Amino acid sequence: MRHKEIFEKQKEFYLTGKTKEIAFRLESLRKLQSAIKRYEPDITTALKKDLHRSEFDAYLSEIGPTLDEIKYVSKRLKTWAKPRRVPTPQVLMGSKSYVYPEPYGLTLIISPWNYPFNLAVMPLIGAIAAGNCVTLKPSEWAPHTSQVIMQMIKGIFEEEYIAVIEGDVETSKALLDLPFDHIFFTGSAQVGKTIMEKAAQTLTPVTLELGGKSPVIIDKDANIELAARRIVWGKWLNAGQTCVAPDYVLIHEERKDVWLAQLKQEIARFYGTDPLTSENYGHIVNERHFSRLEAFLADGEIVIGGKTDAQRRVIEPTVLTGVSWEAPVMQEEIFGPILPVFTYTDLDEAIAEIRKKEKPLALYFFSENEQNQEKVIRSLPFGGGCINDTIVHIGNPHLPFGGVGTSGLGNYHGKYSFDCFSHEKAIVKQTTQFDMPLRYSFTKNALNWLKKFYG
Ligand code: NAD
Repeated sequence: MRHKEIFEKQKEFYLTGKTKEIAFRLESLRKLQSAIKRYEPDITTALKKDLHRSEFDAYLSEIGPTLDEIKYVSKRLKTWAKPRRVPTPQVLMGSKSYVYPEPYGLTLIISPWNYPFNLAVMPLIGAIAAGNCVTLKPSEWAPHTSQVIMQMIKGIFEEEYIAVIEGDVETSKALLDLPFDHIFFTGSAQVGKTIMEKAAQTLTPVTLELGGKSPVIIDKDANIELAARRIVWGKWLNAGQTCVAPDYVLIHEERKDVWLAQLKQEIARFYGTDPLTSENYGHIVNERHFSRLEAFLADGEIVIGGKTDAQRRVIEPTVLTGVSWEAPVMQEEIFGPILPVFTYTDLDEAIAEIRKKEKPLALYFFSENEQNQEKVIRSLPFGGGCINDTIVHIGNPHLPFGGVGTSGLGNYHGKYSFDCFSHEKAIVKQTTQFDMPLRYSFTKNALNWLKKFYG
C-alpha cells in the first residue's frame, strides 16, 4: 500500500533532523503561504463546487485565517522553539531546569468537509511549526477542495515530509493502522471515539476537535438588534454546517417576539427574500445530511423559512418554536440551517437546562449585565465562546480553540498549535561541582533535613 511506503519514507526523513531546523520550518511556512495565495482562485472555485460557498465567505472563513495564522506563527516561532529555563527548587540546589519543546515526529491529520481547506491547513501550520512530518487526509465529502489541497501540497513539499492522502473512511482506517506519533482529528464525536480507541492500542497521543450542540442564551436586557444580526451571521454561515454554529437559542420570554421579528429582517438582509436561490447562501453537503435535516422540520412550528430544494440541496434559514427538548432535533448536533428557539423566565432555569446536556463546543450569551455574564461563563462547562457575539472567538490566535468532554480533547491555534504538536521534554542539568548529600539515606540526619526542606 502506498501510504505505508510514504510512512516509511517519512520515518527516514524525520531521522535526518531536517524538520527540526528552525530555518527549514520557517521556509516551509513561507512556501505554504505563497502557495495559498497562488491557489486562492482554485480554492475559491473548489469551495463553490463542494458547498456553494460564496467568494466572500471562502476568504473570510478558509483562506484568510490560514494566511493570518502563518504570519502569526512565523513571527514567534523562534522564541517558542527555544528551550525555556524554569525555576529550580532548593532541594535541587546547584542544578538548572529547562523545558525543551520537541516535535512528536510523524503526525496524522484527518479533517472534515465543512471547512475543508481551513481545517486541513490550520493544523498543518502547527505541525510544520513544531517540526513534524505530516500525513494529511482531507474529507472525501469535499472532493474538489481535497484535490486542490493535494495539488498545492504536492507542488511545494516532498511526500517524505508532507503527504496528502485522499480517500474515504477505509483510507482513514488504513492510515490509523500505522504507528503515528500523534493523531490530530477534526470531525464528529462518534468517529472521535473510534479514533481514540484505535490510538489507545499504541498509546498514541490524540487531539480531538469535535462538535456538539452549542447554545445561545439571550438575556432580558440584551441588545436585540445586534443579537439578531450576529446570530444570523454565525448560524447561517455555510448554511449552519459549522462546528461552533449556534445550535439552539434560549431567550427570555419577554424578548422573544421582538427578537424573532428582527431576526427575520436580518435574514432577508443577508440572503434576500429567496435564500434558496441566493449566491451568498450555502448548500447542504450531501443527500444523507439533506434528508436528516429535512426530517427535523417536523419537530416544531416553523416561524421563519422552512422551504427546501432537494435537487440543489438547499434549506432556507429556518426557525422552529414549540420544540420539545425530547424531539429528534434536540438529540443530536443539528449541523444545518435549522434553529430551534426556547424561552425561559429565569436565567438559572436556562443554565440548568443546558447543564443537563453534554458539554458543548461553544456557548454564546447576549447580555448587558456583567454579573450575569460572569455567572454564565463560570457556571457552565464548554469549549469556548463569546459574550454578545457568535463564532468570533475562534478568530483570535491568542485564544485556544478546542472542546471539553464530548466536544473535544486538546486545543490549537497560534501558540496552542505549536504546543499541540510538540512534546515538552523536561531536563535538569545537574552540577558536578558538588553532590548534595541529603538525598542519600546513608547521610547522617538525612531524614530530618529532608523533613525540614519539604515540611
Ligand atoms: P466525520 O467524523 O464523519 O469525518 C471526519 C473525517 O474522519 C473524514 O476525513 C472521514 O473520512 C474520517 N472518518 C469518518 N469515519 C471514520 C472512521 N470510522 N474511521 C476513521 N476515519 C473516519 O465528520 P464530518 O461529517 O466530516 O464533520 C462533521 C463533524 O465534525 C461535526 O460533528 C462537527 O461539529 C465536527 N467539526 C468539528 C470541528 C472542530 O474544530 N471542533 C470543526 C469542524 C467540524
